[in-house]
Amino acid sequence: MLALLVAALVALRLATDSGPSRAAPSRDEAARTARPEPVDPDQRARALVGRMTRAEKLQLVHGVAICGLPVGDVPGGERSLGGAGYIPGIPRLAIPDLNYTDGAAGVTNCGARPTGQSTVLPSPLARSSSWSPALAAEAGALLGREARRQGFTGLLGGTSELVRDPRWGRSFETPGEDPLLNGTLLAAEVKAVQAQRVVATLKHFAANNQESNRREVSVEVGERALRELHLLPYEIALARSGAASVMCAYNRVRGTHACENARLLRQVLKGEWAFPGQVQSDWGATRSTVASARAGLDEEQFDSRYFGSALADAVATGRVPVARLDDMVRRKLRGLAAVGLLDSPPPAPRAVDHRRGAKIARRLAERSIVLLKNEKRLLPLKRSVRSVAVIGSHADVGVLSGGGSSQVSPVGGPAVPPTCDVEVPGGSRCPVWVGPSPLAAIRRAAPGADVRFVDGTDRAAAVREAARAEVAIVFASEWRREGQDRGTLALPVLRKPEWPRRVDQDRLINAVAAANSSTVVVLETGGPVTTPWISRVPAVLEAWYPGSGGGPAIADVLFGAVNPSGKLTVTFPRRTSDTPTGGAPRPRQRTAAYREGLAVGYRWYDAAAIAPRFAFGHGLSYTSFAYSGLRVRRAGRTLKVRFIVRNRGRRAGAEISQLYLGLPPSAGVPPLRLVGWNRTTLAPGASRQVTLTVPPRRLAVWSVRGRRWTVRSGRYAVAVGASSRDVRARASIRVPGG
Ligand code: BGC
Repeated sequence: MLALLVAALVALRLATDSGPSRAAPSRDEAARTARPEPVDPDQRARALVGRMTRAEKLQLVHGVAICGLPVGDVPGGERSLGGAGYIPGIPRLAIPDLNYTDGAAGVTNCGARPTGQSTVLPSPLARSSSWSPALAAEAGALLGREARRQGFTGLLGGTSELVRDPRWGRSFETPGEDPLLNGTLLAAEVKAVQAQRVVATLKHFAANNQESNRREVSVEVGERALRELHLLPYEIALARSGAASVMCAYNRVRGTHACENARLLRQVLKGEWAFPGQVQSDWGATRSTVASARAGLDEEQFDSRYFGSALADAVATGRVPVARLDDMVRRKLRGLAAVGLLDSPPPAPRAVDHRRGAKIARRLAERSIVLLKNEKRLLPLKRSVRSVAVIGSHADVGVLSGGGSSQVSPVGGPAVPPTCDVEVPGGSRCPVWVGPSPLAAIRRAAPGADVRFVDGTDRAAAVREAARAEVAIVFASEWRREGQDRGTLALPVLRKPEWPRRVDQDRLINAVAAANSSTVVVLETGGPVTTPWISRVPAVLEAWYPGSGGGPAIADVLFGAVNPSGKLTVTFPRRTSDTPTGGAPRPRQRTAAYREGLAVGYRWYDAAAIAPRFAFGHGLSYTSFAYSGLRVRRAGRTLKVRFIVRNRGRRAGAEISQLYLGLPPSAGVPPLRLVGWNRTTLAPGASRQVTLTVPPRRLAVWSVRGRRWTVRSGRYAVAVGASSRDVRARASIRVPGG
């Protein structure tokens, strides 16, 4: 009965709603659409495919425009909205135009759309420092809302890869180095995107961990590392979010390009995981027609080189079965139906609600900042401070953002005139600074203080200002972008054309710290950096690429209006040479041998007994927390872990407590595996019992021979703590195998 009612309402909507991309229905068409449509997305997609001509099906499986520029010889590209990709809809069947935009930190604007300025959120790596699925959902809701408002039906956010090499140029686009954390946060985000009636894409399937030679490099990775680390974020996020689209990557995996890799796409993703959605190629990552179609690729982006007339021929001659073409289309339509786009395509593009966006961006930035070091209780600064020297990194106007296809055009434009055209296909290839400024917010926070800014390009001037001020705050920045890895983790030396002269940031920090013992360093980086000056600097904040709320959020943390609660989701090594991958990725590298195996991120530092500079999970607060009462129970192979966290300081604060397991030696894994966490906000003196349930899959390892997950029998060490290297309570428990 209910189903009938819903179907009738859907039909009524279809008959009355006239979205911009839908032509007036003919009388026949109206009669057809007035009939109740099946509401189940699968049935609906199947029914639509049954009504489509071959040409219509072929139209839906490849792009015809990139960033507003028509491409290929298939017409229609000029009607695109100017996003990263476009597939024209089919008005007679009420299938809307499909417009895709990138959206890791905000809706992007590679086609210079007039309404294309969007809220800049903290980068995904920054946001992940909150470890909070609720905040991830808030980010997803904003991304989905702003995408839809600008007319988009698909958001290419959701970078799931682990930070394997901390020099990775795109590390800022991904949540971090742990598969459970990545998968959990992305699941929440993507689900929230799709709740806004926008299809979300998880990318880049799979093992797209470096930019160097990214189109050719072959990832040579063992089966266990693939399953237990590199595929796991996808497996978790897909199961929990219902993401309707997965983007296959540029790189090869074990010799075969990801977009024609039958093992990855057909066997694992669509077979074992029963993924019902579509596989879309990364932009220009399709390498063949028949091999790709048969391997499970459903959509070529950004053009029609392989899935245009070549696919038409292949289907006509039976090299690609008609059933496979039908399957490609069905998968796409299923996703559109499931998120609500068939009933409600986006309205005509409008500017975003930037006030609402700015508030959310600020709240997320407050939770993203990680207090790495705070000696002598230098922070929080007192509002009564008399003089402050603010130095470097355009802190007078804004904060840094990450480059490449995820570059967002900030509302109001960049804070510093960029040295390149940033609203182009592929995104920016030069840094973009985003207002408002940290300096103005610092001035507001300390209204009585003499706050002076120097840009840091003149070291002597910076030292002079630092010497005469009560406190010196040095902003240091590290720009990363898609398409280029870093060669080292040292803070970069700033140069022309962005800077009038060379600025060696490590030397600048050393010089300022020598002149003022109350020096704070604020890092704006896209990933881990080395901190050779650490022993000379009492306080360090990692602000990442903090987005349009970043300036005020930094000031709020510096002055204690916000008590920092972020914790690192990537390890900061002492030296670049300590990293799991040894040498930097090379420009013409043909293969990337994942020799570290299961020892990615903190697992590497633990396994190799290398002390990191700042451990995975590390982050300080202006209060401190005590842990007690650890209890572990077991029901079958499910663990229930309980402990008490108490705020033992005088300020309210939030603690992200972490639960790690040490598997029995027969599992052959590095010492610790993150299996749960909890973020608790506590008033001064308050305590709370935290209960974490660890399902058997979190204990499991991949059995290569059995091709399945298994739990090894034995004693499991349980470690609860404030970081992977700050364990506060330990226990152990025997678990039966199976
Ligand atoms: C990137 C993708 C992006 C696509 C469209 C590619 O270069 O690798 O992440 O979604 O471009 O802009």
